[in-house]
Amino acid sequence: MTVERLRLAVPNKGRLVEPTLSLLRDAGLQFEDHRRSLLSHCENYPLDILYVRTEDVVEFVRDGVAEMGVTGRNLLVESGTELPVLARLGYGRCRLEAAVPNDSPVRSFDDLSGARLATTHPVTAERFFTEQGVSVDIVPISGAAEVAPRMGLADGIVDLVSTGSTLVMNGLRSVGVLLASEAILVGAVRDGLDAGSDGTRLADVVTMVRSVVEGRRRKYLMMNAPAACLERIEAILPGLESPSIIPLAHQGMVAVHAVVGADDVWQVLPRLRGAGASGILVIPVEKLLA
Ligand code: AMP
Repeated sequence: MTVERLRLAVPNKGRLVEPTLSLLRDAGLQFEDHRRSLLSHCENYPLDILYVRTEDVVEFVRDGVAEMGVTGRNLLVESGTELPVLARLGYGRCRLEAAVPNDSPVRSFDDLSGARLATTHPVTAERFFTEQGVSVDIVPISGAAEVAPRMGLADGIVDLVSTGSTLVMNGLRSVGVLLASEAILVGAVRDGLDAGSDGTRLADVVTMVRSVVEGRRRKYLMMNAPAACLERIEAILPGLESPSIIPLAHQGMVAVHAVVGADDVWQVLPRLRGAGASGILVIPVEKLLA
């Protein structure tokens, strides 16, 4: 019996390509990068990777051409399609923000009432301002929104921002955030996908991808300490569960192993040392299934 292969649509160019391929590799999938053709076959799993435009990923999944896809949350929202988000991937983070020229009197969303706003995200912007009860005039454009106010095309913009340097370089100031975005894994809801081998394999891919994302958020710490310091050390470690305590050959000494948030490491390490720990090792977590 031949096993039907799952299809995963991923971006074929742009900023989401490299982090997406490395996530899939870290999840354990083996494949060659064929982004210039259309398709990569995974060698060790019945899954094919389809390379499509980032903007088209949602459509591929919605139409059932692929069972899953990786794209930006902003693009899912803008498409107006209700697809389940199977995992948040932790990269491609950005915000959809409203911005106006530095010399504009506008300070809040309410102040934008009656304004013309140029945006690459007309659906999201329209819906947001309608929900806010603020009437704005949306001018859809396909790119380079940041130059629209200078060209006299609009009073302000609604555009994606990550560092904010594009706004600064164009003499613009943020008024507020409409949507926070990051790369996501979306899935199709089709009959038969919730059960049977297709559904099981889809769930397996989701589990593997999530375990990598979860692992990247954590570090594994190993350290030695006098048993007398344990209480103070445990109070510093807000791990997944209680730490593992292993007696050492030297009388009164223990090894402590614990998982901590990757972002917490730099404030936790000096405190652990201050509490009596020594020989502290920080080790990456490849995958984590809680
Ligand atoms: P690209 O194909 O390179 O244009 O990437 C587009 C997607 O990357 C966007 O739809 C967002 O989901 C994501 N992204 C992350 N940061 C930014 C940013 N500063 N500007 C535009 N897109 C971003």
